[in-house]
Amino acid sequence: MVRVGETARREASFDSLKIPFPPAAAIMPRDRRDLAAVLALANARRVPVTVRGRGTSLTGSAAPRRGGWVVDLSGWRRIRIDREAGMAHVQAGARVAAIHRAAEAAGWFYPPDPSSREYCTIGGNIACNAGGMRAGKYGVTRDYVIALKGFLPTGEYVEWGTPTRKFSAGFNLRDLWIGSEGMLGIVTEAVLKLVPRPAARWTMLAAFRDEAAACRAARSLFALRLQPEICEFLDRYSVLCAERATGATVFPGQPGRPGLLLEFSGSAGEVREQRRAALAWAGTKAAAFRAARDRDEAEALWAVRRKCSGAMFELGDAKLNEDIVVPMRSYERLARFLDRLRRESGLPIPVFGHLGDGNLHVNIMYRRADPAQCRAAARAVRRLMETVVALGGAISGEHGIGLAKSPFLHLQHRPAQVGAMRAVKHALDPRGILNPGKIFEKFEVWKHPRLAVALPWDHK
Ligand SMILES: Cc1cc2nc3c(=O)[nH]c(=O)nc-3n(C[C@H](O)[C@H](O)[C@H](O)COP(=O)(O)OP(=O)(O)OC[C@H]3O[C@@H](n4cnc5c(N)ncnc54)[C@H](O)[C@@H]3O)c2cc1C
Repeated sequence: MVRVGETARREASFDSLKIPFPPAAAIMPRDRRDLAAVLALANARRVPVTVRGRGTSLTGSAAPRRGGWVVDLSGWRRIRIDREAGMAHVQAGARVAAIHRAAEAAGWFYPPDPSSREYCTIGGNIACNAGGMRAGKYGVTRDYVIALKGFLPTGEYVEWGTPTRKFSAGFNLRDLWIGSEGMLGIVTEAVLKLVPRPAARWTMLAAFRDEAAACRAARSLFALRLQPEICEFLDRYSVLCAERATGATVFPGQPGRPGLLLEFSGSAGEVREQRRAALAWAGTKAAAFRAARDRDEAEALWAVRRKCSGAMFELGDAKLNEDIVVPMRSYERLARFLDRLRRESGLPIPVFGHLGDGNLHVNIMYRRADPAQCRAAARAVRRLMETVVALGGAISGEHGIGLAKSPFLHLQHRPAQVGAMRAVKHALDPRGILNPGKIFEKFEVWKHPRLAVALPWDHK
């Protein structure tokens, strides 16, 4: 189906970054034959093509910056679980939460768990190498992709890998596609690895004197070789946001205590053992802690994490949500730097995220009508990116580069590295039709007005 009406073009013009670039048409191919024909025509006529899953990308990677055609694969949703092999055969538009449910119904488990899971597609997850809360223990999307099928920008059909646990036949272009943000090829189907579903879980929330103490305590937990499935960090500002939203103080009499939300999983015996060790750890390292006795109590602890993000909009009507990642040895230095950044910028900067893998969400809040705050936010992002790279980390742990991080690609990569990426892009997409204007071309988000639209996944 080809849609050229104003509403369809508007809907396809932006993702969660909310900066619109209207395409000439939104195309929903029915099958592989349709898609091959669309790509062959686009390639012949040099029409830009931007593939779209569900548009939850926070970086503008799904927005058609150069117009052209948006190819929407969100209707390609088939999921089949191979119970014997422990694999999921999925189409690109399958929702990640639907894959979770299908796997679990068959006694298996698909670990990658972005907070947008109810909405985002596996095609988008593969294109961004999505992570989530469980990555510290289980890894990211890349660790679960066994094989891919899809199209080169020229319209030629390709298959990278087979539904086997081993594959060593030729160059590994499957991994080149993973994280390529829809710039090297279009995924139509994937085979995903599943793991046995953990039988038991146990949750606790520990509070600390300050952020550096929380970071130190997390490192000491990992040094005990305890591997929580989830280790979410909440700084004092995130906790205060959650407390305002829930109307309750997490630790009575101690508002705004930075915390670690921990969840352990495994067999019942393994969880019992981890619980014993984690309680001993909390007894010596934490200022206070709450241990869930059942799932209801666990849910109450989770509310702190779930509520903090939406509540931040009381601090500013615009958010630059940066998903930086740093090595474990740099956790405390990052915490101290963030304190300085708040003081120097004068902006509220609540931070939470996945301390199990060092991937933190730094939320720079500002008022878009205030030019001084906009400038301060732009400066703060640059300082953050420079510092993260200096600490041995990366400017994105899971969201990718898209438009939003394009000004900082050169901080992460030497000219030779960017040159190699450009050469790969040119080899696979000689006419440059697939998702043009991204990654390599600088785009300054704060200079562009954002749409005032509410998306179903806002504040999740
Ligand atoms: C509330 C919220 C929470 C989030 N939490 C997380 C999180 O915890 N972890 C995380 O990693 N991300 C998170 N994200 C970011 C986002 O959900 C992910 O980047 C997700 O992978 C995007 O999937 P999508 O289907 O929406 O893709 P889109 O936004 O439609 O597209 C994203 C990119 O993938 C490309 N693409 C899409 N489909 C294909 C395909 N079939 N073939 C090739 N390229 C394709 C697009 O061209 C684009 O470059 C969150 C976003 C929101 C809004």
